[in-house]
Amino acid sequence: MWYLLSLAIGRPTFIVSRWLIRVTIYIIAGVNTTKPKRAFNFALQSLNQLLWPAVCINCGENICETDNNLCKNCWAELQACADPDYCRRCGRDASKFAILEGACPDCLGKEFHFDRIARSGVYGEALQKMILAFKNGRTELDLAVGFLANSALQGSGFYNDIELFVPVPLHWSRRLRRGYNQSQVLAKKLNHPAAKISTALVRIRRTKLQPAMASPAARAKNVAGAFAVRYGHNFTNRKICLVDDIKTTGATLNECAKTLKQAGALKVFALVLAVAGQNQ
Ligand SMILES: [Zn+2]
Ligand SMILES: [Zn+2]
Repeated sequence: MWYLLSLAIGRPTFIVSRWLIRVTIYIIAGVNTTKPKRAFNFALQSLNQLLWPAVCINCGENICETDNNLCKNCWAELQACADPDYCRRCGRDASKFAILEGACPDCLGKEFHFDRIARSGVYGEALQKMILAFKNGRTELDLAVGFLANSALQGSGFYNDIELFVPVPLHWSRRLRRGYNQSQVLAKKLNHPAAKISTALVRIRRTKLQPAMASPAARAKNVAGAFAVRYGHNFTNRKICLVDDIKTTGATLNECAKTLKQAGALKVFALVLAVAGQNQ
């Protein structure tokens, strides 16, 4: 008897309390109750933000969910590294008034195998810190570096020509030790309506880390013959964009572009996050 009575009272109480909880969520969310799903998601997001507040992926500062994963200070520092006045042939800082026949005073007369280059910024301060972290395990920074690379790509002037993205490859032993190729992770973040990523360019020889090498000639010698293309590649008559994190003298990009052109590529462009070694 008591059992039946408790059931009779319990069931409506349960329904009413469930309804009250839903109404409370809608009121807290402060949104139109005619769209319950959206309201519920909003409430869930707010709760999520309360329990696990979003932090800047670069410095750990608390941020709003809408801040693109970086705090205002980090964005400002990154923007300071992004100078749009650079030579589209070599990537170094150059005022547009210093460009003569498409070349800056620094690269005038130099031979490159890549046709044009786009960069997100100069290698220093915030950008350097972020690239080093991205290379050393913090792959969650792909959102931020992807955003920077996409901005550079949009302003490159060769965006509509690209048919394939080719990340600069690591030697298999280095990739195994690091667990990923940062250039490939970056390439996956690039927005393009048609271009696909190809990994048919490979590094067949383990090279010394470039920062240890002194002169541009030594850097070029270090990477000479280090790349090859896989059998069955699709580079013939294609317009390719190489993707890398840092360009210093350009020896690596140059060697990659040379290998791609020997394999039949029509054009080879380059996209990098940063250009370093402005004084070399
Ligand atoms: Zn920050
Ligand atoms: Zn130049």
